[in-house]
Amino acid sequence: MNILVINAGSSSLKYQLIDMSTESILAKGLCERVGIEGSNIEQKVNGKVYQKTLPLKNHVEAFAALVAALTDPEYGAVRDLSSIGAVGHRVVHGAEAFTSSVVIDGAVMKALRDNIPLAPLHNPANIMGIEACQAVMPGAPMVAVFDTAFHQTMPRRAYLYGLPYEYYEKYKIRRYGFHGTSHRYVTARAAQLMGIPLERLKLISCHMGNGSSFAAVDGGKSIDTTMGLTPLEGLIMGTRSGDVDPAVIEMLTTSAGLSLKDAINVLNKKSGLLGLSGGLSSDWRDVRAGAQAGDDAASRAAEVLAYRAKKYIGAYIAAMNGCDAILFTAGIGENDSYARELILRGMDYLGIQLDPERNKTRGEALISADGSRVKVYVVPTNEEMAIARDTLALTGTIEARFNSPAVERSLA
Ligand code: ADP
Repeated sequence: MNILVINAGSSSLKYQLIDMSTESILAKGLCERVGIEGSNIEQKVNGKVYQKTLPLKNHVEAFAALVAALTDPEYGAVRDLSSIGAVGHRVVHGAEAFTSSVVIDGAVMKALRDNIPLAPLHNPANIMGIEACQAVMPGAPMVAVFDTAFHQTMPRRAYLYGLPYEYYEKYKIRRYGFHGTSHRYVTARAAQLMGIPLERLKLISCHMGNGSSFAAVDGGKSIDTTMGLTPLEGLIMGTRSGDVDPAVIEMLTTSAGLSLKDAINVLNKKSGLLGLSGGLSSDWRDVRAGAQAGDDAASRAAEVLAYRAKKYIGAYIAAMNGCDAILFTAGIGENDSYARELILRGMDYLGIQLDPERNKTRGEALISADGSRVKVYVVPTNEEMAIARDTLALTGTIEARFNSPAVERSLA
């Protein structure tokens, strides 16, 4: 069965068509600048590139362009839509309603709309993606896979903020966590690599890309993660500040004279590596190159990022009372030996020792030294494959929908 995986942003639509009999990618594409001047589509099939600049006024038009590209006689991957068995949608925020992936129906759509206040930027885009798919491929079975679902196992001691409890009760203000699909995929793969059942492992999954989050995964369950109510909390990221004292926001509005909206924008879009490096770059490769060349602004950005990451690893070892393996994934985690070395340096007290030669390798690998009590692995993530696998599993067994009592409660 071929599964189409959709990741809809506010002005973009990313997709992959995957043949699940071999788990091979048939097509990969991206519609950009949807609803903006200069919109375009690019698709790759077997090395053949299909590129078009065309007006895409909304997500329905983008979806129609995607279907035309997929079925193009010369550049396409399939003859017609009948060879696409189901569609899996990435959805950012499932809140407390969804503890696992679900088949999409009217009740699920209502729950997604109800969650908009928790993810005002992301969920409306995800909903537009689903509705566009419904308009262009009516009747296609569809599944929603949530970034938050994997972290719904967090105990309340990890997910509650130290705020008056009524704000949690009334507005569901709590920590949710994101990148769950990646953390779930990477920890399951690590258990295979280690030859030990996931249920018996304490793992720290370090997803480091433009957005970064770590998760403490004990026995296959997320017990804590660095992102919170939104993806702003936790680690230093490309442009996000991660943890700050909330009083910083007050000072940005008083001393720096910013509006509340602008202050939050600074934390989301102008901070992290970009801000700390004095505007040099949000891209780790530039920051690393600067730091290695002795540039002080780049060095301080790298130092702050690595120190925050190190502290969270220490915290999660304490939270789980141990750790069998630390897993690095995503753009920085998978590719950058320098970042991994900077983070794990000086952690031998906790039994963590990198092997410098192994650390240089690319791709899936054990990179800790033989004597290291805690193993360290690079495990490339594959969120699209995880979405496709869930979609296949759920559309094969429709009765698996609403497998969470919490979903039924929230929809009642
Ligand atoms: P996103 O969160 O957008 O999915 P990615 O997982 O693609 O991000 O990660 C982007 C980050 O990974 C950037 O900071 C980039 O510099 C870094 N990165 C990508 N490739 C490499 C590489 N070969 N070496 C070091 N860093 C890399």
